[in-house]
Amino acid sequence: MVDHPLLDGLNPQQRDAVVHEGSPLLIVAGAGSGKTRVLTHRIAYLLSERDAQPQEILAITFTNKAAREMKERVDRLIGPRSKAMWVMTFHSACVRILRREAKRLGFTSSFSIYDQADSQRLMAMVCRELDLDPKRYPPRSFSAQVSNLKNELIDYETAAGKAQTHLERTLAEAYASYQRRLTEAGAMDFDDIIMLTVTLFQLFPDVAEHYRRRFRHVMVDEYQDTNHAQYILIRELVGHPELRTADGDLVREGSVEPAELCVVGDADQSIYAFRGATIRNILEFERDYPNARTILLEQNYRSTQTILSAANAVISRNESRKPKNLWSDQGAGPKIVGYVADNEHDEAMFVAQEVDRLADEDDVTPGQVAVFYRTNAASRVFEEIFIRTGLPYKVVGGVRFYERKEVRDLLAYLRVLANPSDTVSLRRVLNVPKRGIGDRAEAMVEAFSIRERIPFYEALSRAEDAPGLATRSLNAIKEFVALLEDLRGKELPISELAEEVLAGTGYRTELETSGDPQDESRLENLNELISVAQEFEEANPDGTLVDFLEQVSLVADADQIPEGEDHQGVVTLMTLHTAKGLEFPVVFLTGLEDGVFPHMRSLGEPRELEEERRLAYVGITRAQQRLYISRAAVRSSWGSPAFNPASRFLAEVPGDLVDWRGDPAKNAWGAATKRETRAESRTAAASRKTGGRVIPNLSPGDRVTHDQFGLGTVVSVDGMAEKTKVKVDFGSGGEKTLLLAYAPIEKL
Ligand code: ATP
Ligand code: MG
Repeated sequence: MVDHPLLDGLNPQQRDAVVHEGSPLLIVAGAGSGKTRVLTHRIAYLLSERDAQPQEILAITFTNKAAREMKERVDRLIGPRSKAMWVMTFHSACVRILRREAKRLGFTSSFSIYDQADSQRLMAMVCRELDLDPKRYPPRSFSAQVSNLKNELIDYETAAGKAQTHLERTLAEAYASYQRRLTEAGAMDFDDIIMLTVTLFQLFPDVAEHYRRRFRHVMVDEYQDTNHAQYILIRELVGHPELRTADGDLVREGSVEPAELCVVGDADQSIYAFRGATIRNILEFERDYPNARTILLEQNYRSTQTILSAANAVISRNESRKPKNLWSDQGAGPKIVGYVADNEHDEAMFVAQEVDRLADEDDVTPGQVAVFYRTNAASRVFEEIFIRTGLPYKVVGGVRFYERKEVRDLLAYLRVLANPSDTVSLRRVLNVPKRGIGDRAEAMVEAFSIRERIPFYEALSRAEDAPGLATRSLNAIKEFVALLEDLRGKELPISELAEEVLAGTGYRTELETSGDPQDESRLENLNELISVAQEFEEANPDGTLVDFLEQVSLVADADQIPEGEDHQGVVTLMTLHTAKGLEFPVVFLTGLEDGVFPHMRSLGEPRELEEERRLAYVGITRAQQRLYISRAAVRSSWGSPAFNPASRFLAEVPGDLVDWRGDPAKNAWGAATKRETRAESRTAAASRKTGGRVIPNLSPGDRVTHDQFGLGTVVSVDGMAEKTKVKVDFGSGGEKTLLLAYAPIEKL
């Protein structure tokens, strides 16, 4: 075994992975086993012991925050030589490549990047143009489907060729015009960024070769969540080895010696199947890279054995997986704490009180605590309670800063200034603040641009030639164009340019004079954006407006995790999806109810249920010392209370690992679905009175008889009072959902 200071603090398998040379390397291992740590040490080792140059290294992480952390850690290990490495997300790396090579694909190097909201707006525009009924062909769904196609590297021509149904043909048509509009706007959406890089490599072998010569070491973290396009991208980037048949005949020449590839991941943590990520990348790695070496890591360094045993027990219920044996030598630690709350407010209150208690009794700081939930919307109640009890917190994800209207408006102005053909941004601010260019005027300019085959911006500049425009609108348009031209001519730092936009357009004055308290916070947000620009200027003295906009549009959810001192002081609220790769001493896993987590849409869908279970595994394994699992007996959903049964994942955690807190009536959680909790009995009592007839009080697992369908077992109960619905499994009669108040049903 090689001895080297960089290998201290690594176990033998981790060392093997760090020093491995040559063939592709796959590290598959459970959560907290040091995969990310291995990557970091491997980079440091390559640089200090194997004569690799920093610019030969490309390391792909899942978020910009993870990239920053990895860079910092390598920096600490080997010093400032690390600067020239590419440690970044797929998107950032591809954007860099595309900016350099944009001309080959017919773009300028200042192309715009459309984020999800922009691309949905564009798709909505396209659907309107195609006169599609939004009820039958929802633009959002079209947007999502186009994204899926791109993740599979299917372009619109191929999609059209494959289309069989009317719906598929319509989709392909929308895809084609959506793509045309993007190209006209000199823009790419998020999925294009990956797909076009693959296209670039495949169409221009010299470009591919250039990057293959450059990147001699390619590493990918969270490999289980790469989608097909990203998978092919890696193959293109690494280069193909020479391929011969068994008889030694050359099938394919290798142009450049393939780069060393090292990917790390955990099939059990694949949680983006809905985004086209596919664990087939892991499962088939060995097939696609026949000379690959696989290293397994089995020791978990993050969590107590109790937490790990819970995680192992839950994930072992998934059928399509390789069994793993993850262990920890950190001792059992405290038991997992379980809590059945009366409702979601009670659940949040429990969390707040527990955080206080831990602070008093165990010196736990709020910064060591994370609260996870399944959907973004769930954060609101925690926020409300935390504000009320004075507990400092930070929401990661959710209504993100960059999604706030005023922030997007200002960014849209900046984008138009950087790239006038960015029509979506242009039209977003055309009449913001209101300047008398109404929908009618906009439509006329659009018609003019279509007829003349000129970009929208040019049509605006030549508005006097557009027929039918009222003088008032025409003047407003002229003023608007003059304002933009004036701003474009100014050579100002980005932050000052942003100020000028706010002043010149009247945006700032409008907010300042409105008297609406919400506008005050809008102003704060705009000022915050200007300080983002100032920070950018300080960090990148040569950075251009285009660079700034790019950085802003690539900010991932996880980047808003507070860092430094802040991080010591505030509870982190986030969805389970955002939590990947992170660790916290104390974790609250909330909303463990069937229909919440696992999510409603996964019930009855075995494959989606397995993905939900992987999400539960991710959540549990973020915890280092203490884990709390909770559910609410009643939770409002869509404005009316629902009493969801306990999450099936709760029943999968071995009972002896959990210490149930509070009212004993709510404790026997294994049976909690059968026995009434206080809140359940309140709502059930209400529902019993419905319609003046005695309605059975049902829980999942109860046996019932129905006048028509016969014997059955209750699967779930949803809603309350006269809206209560029960789902009953009638065996060969199938599953039926019945309105309890009207169903001729009796409890046995
Ligand atoms: P995930 O699957 O959640 O991404 P991971 O496999 O990437 O987890 P890391 O985040 O690299 O795991 O490591 C988990 C924790 O264990 C970190 O705090 C890391 O510093 C620590 N760790 C990893 N290996 C060792 C080791 N050999 N000795 C001590 N601590 C270690
Ligand atoms: Mg990791």
